[in-house]
Amino acid sequence: MTTPLIAGNWKMNGLAADLEQARAVAAGLGAATSTARVVLCPPATLLARMAAVLSGTPILVGAQDCHERPSGPFTGDVSAGMLADAGASLVIVGHSERRAAHGETNAKVAAKALAARRAGLEPIICVGESRAERDAGRAIDVICGQVAACVDRRLADGAFAIAYEPIWAIGSGVTPTAAEIALAHAALRGALIDCASERGAAAPILYGGSVNPGNAAEILAIAEVGGALVGGASLEAADFLAIVGAV
Ligand code: PEP
Repeated sequence: MTTPLIAGNWKMNGLAADLEQARAVAAGLGAATSTARVVLCPPATLLARMAAVLSGTPILVGAQDCHERPSGPFTGDVSAGMLADAGASLVIVGHSERRAAHGETNAKVAAKALAARRAGLEPIICVGESRAERDAGRAIDVICGQVAACVDRRLADGAFAIAYEPIWAIGSGVTPTAAEIALAHAALRGALIDCASERGAAAPILYGGSVNPGNAAEILAIAEVGGALVGGASLEAADFLAIVGAV
């Protein structure tokens, strides 16, 4: 069985003082018995400093996005190689906030995932349907289509993860039912096997969207849920540790 992955996405939150939360997660995990891989994804400005703080602990550091090119005239962007150089081991790509606010297409997300792979980073590829798509009965088609378009066959020679994040569940306090999550994850597993054979069968499929200490155990127990991508609840060490402890 693939080791579950619990990833905290700090989004555009965090100053140097907030590295205290990362220290507290490391201290808390030291005593915990979780079998999960744990990763914190701070804003790019904190990557190197968080990597230094977490050095020697089992907690990995991840980034929230990367450019698809290794270098060049892309003002304000950061390449996957730069993120690896700063201490990242993983990178989130295709988060719905980037798809919405930066117009990222499936093709761009696929290119970013490959760039991550080339730089030695493990991509966490986000997919998820809008409320309107779910209400129209199109959720499964949409997310499986995103997997087919974002998971290039060349990813099949290394580790990667998928995060199923219904857009309407992110930051809303609302989650799909357990049955809806189970249905989505089962469909995603099929789509992943079609794209990436054995790697597709093994890739963890995280659930993301309003995961908190109160619902984590139920969500993480659902078949084919291989971990969680946690936004708001990853900002406080106690909440994040409770979610890690629910694995
Ligand atoms: C996210 O944005 O990846 C996320 C899961 O956010 P939240 O947990 O706050 O819903």
